[in-house]
Amino acid sequence: MATDLRVSLTDRCNLRCTYCMPEEGLAWLPRQDILTDDEVVRLVRIAVERLGVREVRFTGGEPLLRRGLVDIVAACARLDPRPELSLTTNAVGLARTTVALAEAGLDRVNGSLDTLRADRFEALTHRRRLDDVLAGLAAARDAGLEPVKINAVLMRGLNDDEAPELLAWALEHGYELRFIEQMPLDAQHGWDRSTMVTAEEILASLQSVFDLTPVGDVERGSAPAETWLVGGGPARVGVIASVTRPFCGNCDRTRLTAEGQVRNCLFAREESDLRGAMRDGADDAELARRWEVAMAGKAAGHGIDDPGFLQPSRPMSAIGG
Ligand code: SAM
Repeated sequence: MATDLRVSLTDRCNLRCTYCMPEEGLAWLPRQDILTDDEVVRLVRIAVERLGVREVRFTGGEPLLRRGLVDIVAACARLDPRPELSLTTNAVGLARTTVALAEAGLDRVNGSLDTLRADRFEALTHRRRLDDVLAGLAAARDAGLEPVKINAVLMRGLNDDEAPELLAWALEHGYELRFIEQMPLDAQHGWDRSTMVTAEEILASLQSVFDLTPVGDVERGSAPAETWLVGGGPARVGVIASVTRPFCGNCDRTRLTAEGQVRNCLFAREESDLRGAMRDGADDAELARRWEVAMAGKAAGHGIDDPGFLQPSRPMSAIGG
């Protein structure tokens, strides 16, 4: 069974990253379909107590938009065994909540930032929030939610020349940067394998400026990022080559959507409904059993490169990245 749980707390987002969501947004999930705070905590507890989950990452949509976030984190920090708790966020407004999140028991923050240039940020996200994001990331670091990892997606013709600049900035601020290959998970279905920026290109671009030494597979374990030491270390940079060098065989993730559906893969075409079972009165043992069955059905690989690959009907924002 997977030991790393990603919990989506909402499908809503305050940015409109072009690789994820159309500018006008999406039809959000109805409120009654979304798990309540207590339901989220109950399912996390079952995962921790009965399924061996050791790490819980809150995501979305944008998890900072979830009103009960701090309380959910605090309740999960009281679980036994206590899981490691982290948050994947675009960092808009994070500066206001970091202290409360740290006090509630959050361990780490993964921020998302694809460009350091205000005009590009607006073109990529359709919002003018770059300064807010930078302040949020700095606040997370200052509150000790470290290492602050930064996820960056490069898009052809938009920010594909910015890898070295992003790395220089991350090194300067003490963040751990990871580039993620763009995956076919956008609601608009605009992804194109032939034009996506590959890990190989990203590395070539970084190596034109930095001296990179690979950190061996032994250390990689189930982590999706392949890692390089920068300038001999200790600083590092990662590349998550989900498309060109998939790591499905080592994947140890299980995902819970905001409406309580278990997904055994980002690219799964099927889900298992825990919310319905829970609201029909299923006990913890039954919910755990259903969760295990859902994970046992996991495919060997995501199949993005297979000719018959079909993008999941849910976009990333509704799965939880
Ligand atoms: N809103 C939060 C954030 O921005 O981090 C959490 C959710 S977001 C879906 C999680 C991560 O998924 C972000 O780092 C984002 O860049 C990444 N992401 C979204 N769509 C993607 C895609 N099509 N390919 C690769 N990464 C993607």
